[in-house]
Amino acid sequence: MSAHPSIAMFDVAGDSLAIGGVPIDRLAERVGSTPFFAYDRRLMTSRVEHIRSVLPRDVELSYAVKANPMPAVVQHLAGLVNACDVASALEMKTVLDTTLPPSQVSFAGPGKTTAELTQAVAAGVTIVMESPHEAIRLTEIGNRLGIRPRVAVRINPDFQVKASGMRMGGGPQQFGIDAEQVPPFLRELALADFEFLGFHVFAGSQNLHADILCEALTRNVALLLRLAGDSPRPVRYLNLGGGFGIPYFDKDHPLDISPIGKTLGELMEQAIRPKLPDARVGIELGRYLVGEAGVYVTRVLDRKISRGRVYLVVDGGLHHVLAASGNLGQFIRRNYPIAVGSRMRQSELEEVSVVGCLCTPLDLLGDNVLLPRAEIGDLIVIFQTGAYGPTASPTAFLGHPPALEVLV
Ligand SMILES: *Cc1c(COP(=O)(O)O)cnc(C)c1O
Repeated sequence: MSAHPSIAMFDVAGDSLAIGGVPIDRLAERVGSTPFFAYDRRLMTSRVEHIRSVLPRDVELSYAVKANPMPAVVQHLAGLVNACDVASALEMKTVLDTTLPPSQVSFAGPGKTTAELTQAVAAGVTIVMESPHEAIRLTEIGNRLGIRPRVAVRINPDFQVKASGMRMGGGPQQFGIDAEQVPPFLRELALADFEFLGFHVFAGSQNLHADILCEALTRNVALLLRLAGDSPRPVRYLNLGGGFGIPYFDKDHPLDISPIGKTLGELMEQAIRPKLPDARVGIELGRYLVGEAGVYVTRVLDRKISRGRVYLVVDGGLHHVLAASGNLGQFIRRNYPIAVGSRMRQSELEEVSVVGCLCTPLDLLGDNVLLPRAEIGDLIVIFQTGAYGPTASPTAFLGHPPALEVLV
């Protein structure tokens, strides 16, 4: 079998992959239908423990809920992290249903509606403003409700983070306020009836290079401390972003976060604490907390040979796992780690293409992959699917039923 590190994170009992200690066939019986997503809570817990062991003690860990908003997952993580970052009213509701206090919730994202902003002010969460116009709307909402909005400003840095899978800062952006526009904006904020807390910066996603992430952190901290000098009130909140990637593909190397912890420790001690002794400082992670803890499980419906190529046709597809089909932000299509769930130790392999059930050639889950010979009824498992799964997929496309999700 492939030695991809994400597969090795799960136990194998006999010939069978086990998720949360439950053999995959038995789990499928328990769930009752395929396809489904299974998330392993132990793996999430140990991931958080690992991050904590590396981060300075006074750096908070926030979960970016959009990576996996399943309520049970959010409940589980809410007990492990310090804070959550949400990007919609529904995500905010999911977090407010946990034990996390509203003061530990931040709401970022461009294009927040007046209804969402109103809910966020009423809830008392921190609203991360992404434009000057949001400040105007928040003033109106605050006046109407008689509540001072708790706000932070998202900064679009004046530099770019290299090698991010998705770039969300530097250059022109729909995200945040350009660094050079921030000082005059802060002067306006000084007049507004807000509880101004501080800054947020998030410049990119899916980065596997510790050295680049360290450099970005260092530059972000320098930028934020410079801007803190223009702040109307002492800065009490600094969200330094994240962007920690996970290894989706064969040649990807897992991110080593220990240099990041070390850099953060130095930045805290030498730069942040001398200037902002009491500010809450945090990083915010999505896929790094949940992505590797999840698998997508789909059953072989058909096995056919076309002009020499073996096709395994499964009951799932890109309508549940768009990213694994290569159609979500990949430039060159590459395969996610994949296995036959009940044949984990078989060494005789064949080359097959695993295709989904949608009537489109885009619905390709494994292109010429080496797998043990799979029969109709076998379970195919796709790894690295604990983040950006069903909620980042076109679930209505072709009208098949949604995938169930379980936390094991
Ligand atoms: C999407 C997003 C995240 C999470 O990104 P990951 O790559 O999953 O870690 C964090 N913060 C903000 C502001 C985001 O938009």
